[in-house]
Amino acid sequence: MVHLGVDLGGTGIKVGLVDDEGKLLGSLSVPTNLPRPAQAICEDIVKTAAQLLEQKKIGWEQVEDLGAGAPGTVNPDEGIVIHAVNLGWWDFPLREELTRLLPREIPVYVHNDANVAAAGEYLVGSAKGAASAVVLTIGTGIGSGIILNHRIESGHYYGGGEFGHMVIVQGGRPCNCGRKGCFEAYASATGLIRLTQEEMERSPESLMHSIAAKQGKVSGRTAFDAMRAGDEVGKRVVDLFLDYLACGIANIINALQPEMICIGGGISKEGDTLLKPLTEKVNRELYGGSQRPTTRLQICTLGNDAGMIGAAMLGRMQQAKD
Ligand SMILES: [Zn+2]
Repeated sequence: MVHLGVDLGGTGIKVGLVDDEGKLLGSLSVPTNLPRPAQAICEDIVKTAAQLLEQKKIGWEQVEDLGAGAPGTVNPDEGIVIHAVNLGWWDFPLREELTRLLPREIPVYVHNDANVAAAGEYLVGSAKGAASAVVLTIGTGIGSGIILNHRIESGHYYGGGEFGHMVIVQGGRPCNCGRKGCFEAYASATGLIRLTQEEMERSPESLMHSIAAKQGKVSGRTAFDAMRAGDEVGKRVVDLFLDYLACGIANIINALQPEMICIGGGISKEGDTLLKPLTEKVNRELYGGSQRPTTRLQICTLGNDAGMIGAAMLGRMQQAKD
């Protein structure tokens, strides 16, 4: 049997086809084209799924289930998107609508997108085999998903697990959420770019200027590239960024001590350049020290496919829960 996984975002709708082992067999994506009615988006999801099945010469009778990850607060038990700012949805019955549109009656599962990506990494990616994991996606913001005792943990009212909005600098930088000093205001790619720009203003001699000019913009790579080229200021920026990242990660470990914390998103492409110094910094900050076995840090392995794969495997997560 095969499973359909939908990664629904503000810019694109990605639909993937996954086998029982969580291997991605193929995918298709179409633009979300906001603003438009939620029903039209659901129709596009089903249409895209049908196209993908046709391409792969697979009939609907071979599809076991469909899972969808949506941005925002999702009630997976009722299948309702409680609130999705990007999509402009309030209390939208996503599961019911997709079930109505599908040509065959199959189970439909919905969850928050960051939780779905975490499920993907947990089932078939970097956290495979772990009993518990926190997956951090470091992009424009910081998305996070928690898997505890083999199930997705999103809190009693489904809005938990938002580590991006944990304050790490009291009274610090304003965040989109309305608080000040949130983890994602410092340790996201956006936070890193801001740090890079601030240091560039202070240091006209830094290599970061020529590197950014060559790349056409200041990006999350600028400081890392400068550091690799021996630039002291670039090294300082990376060091400061890793301090913020380590602070947030140590807080997560102090609270939950999952078996693993997996880091994804654009910054994670730095690999060991990121992971090694980060692990050292985190270990220095841990309560009780790092002498005893503690949470392992890893780089995510599914990349942008985590959402589709995790969504397609939501049925599997559900079975583990029951
Ligand atoms: Zn915030």
